[in-house]
Amino acid sequence: MSALADRYGRRFPYLRLSIIPACNFRCTYCLPHGYKADPQAAGPLSLDEIRRLLTGFTHMGMHKLRITGGEPSVRRDLTDIMRTAAAVPGLTKLAMTSNGTLLNRRLGEWMDAGLNALNISIDSLDRACFARITGYDRMQKILEGIDMALDAGLPSVKLNAVLMRGVNDDQLPRWLDYLRDHRVGVRFIELMQTGDNLAFFRDHHVRAIELETQIREQGWQELPRAADAGPAREYRHPDYAGRIGIIAPYSKDFCAGCNRLRVTATGDLRLCLFGEFGIPLRPLLQSDDQVEDLVRAIGGQIGRKEQGHFLHDGRTGIIPHLASTGG
Ligand code: SAM
Ligand code: SF4
Repeated sequence: MSALADRYGRRFPYLRLSIIPACNFRCTYCLPHGYKADPQAAGPLSLDEIRRLLTGFTHMGMHKLRITGGEPSVRRDLTDIMRTAAAVPGLTKLAMTSNGTLLNRRLGEWMDAGLNALNISIDSLDRACFARITGYDRMQKILEGIDMALDAGLPSVKLNAVLMRGVNDDQLPRWLDYLRDHRVGVRFIELMQTGDNLAFFRDHHVRAIELETQIREQGWQELPRAADAGPAREYRHPDYAGRIGIIAPYSKDFCAGCNRLRVTATGDLRLCLFGEFGIPLRPLLQSDDQVEDLVRAIGGQIGRKEQGHFLHDGRTGIIPHLASTGG
């Protein structure tokens, strides 16, 4: 086995795989006009291609997969993809990031297929605000789905909320009410600039540190970082069942703890979310006996991973929006 490690000593046990670029929402910061299919674009990886890809990565020490998109639940064979991934030897954690629109209907099926961690994006607990952000009045159904996942004992349930100045950055009190008795972590994510959202970013970017300061002042205490922790800084408070995480991509050292690689829905390896290039792996996913070539190809590219992103300089790389790569 050749381990996945780069020249800065970082290891990559974690793969984020987008399984479809399409989405059924139109979040203002991501796909404000909804998803528009490119008729020239190749289709997403098939089930067999995904199985081979995961086999190659697990040969290199990857043990956690996050299925993302676009919106992964738009893909009809999502449950088959989960079942296939869960059966790949060495893959122990199977996570998904979803907008949660199908959660209340599909949770049981997904858990039976091997899903053991779920991040649901819910940018506001105010129904009207949620509808303004996403384009759909679905907050109540999504909250129902989250309660079902918690009641069903899914091992990890987390919520994601993107912070936007003048949109939802005054809603901490609502979140605190929710977290008082919901044993769930909400991670507030600082809005990131992408190729398509510059004007929106300029109007609504707010530093996550502002919210972090507020919670610290209210007695939330930062938890020690686990060795394999992702980029979130986690907080707890004795009066609350839930936790708060802060994801601040513009903060110093954000990239030092990077532990993940990404593959797009069409099989391009992306060494960084904001990288300048993709490495096409699809030609190496056409038969089961290509796994060694695949492992060699991935291993040969890791050295090209940059130490950090260039977002501070406004360089967003090749992605127009996060739906295209899998956020
Ligand atoms: N559709 C799914 C969802 O929304 O959870 C999965 C894909 S979405 C691209 C993954 C995550 O990226 C979501 O939590 C979303 O809010 C976040 N995201 C998208 N665009 C972003 C941006 N420009 N800045 C920060 N987070 C963003
Ligand atoms: Fe779709 Fe997720 Fe992007 Fe919202 S953030 S438009 S749900 S891909």
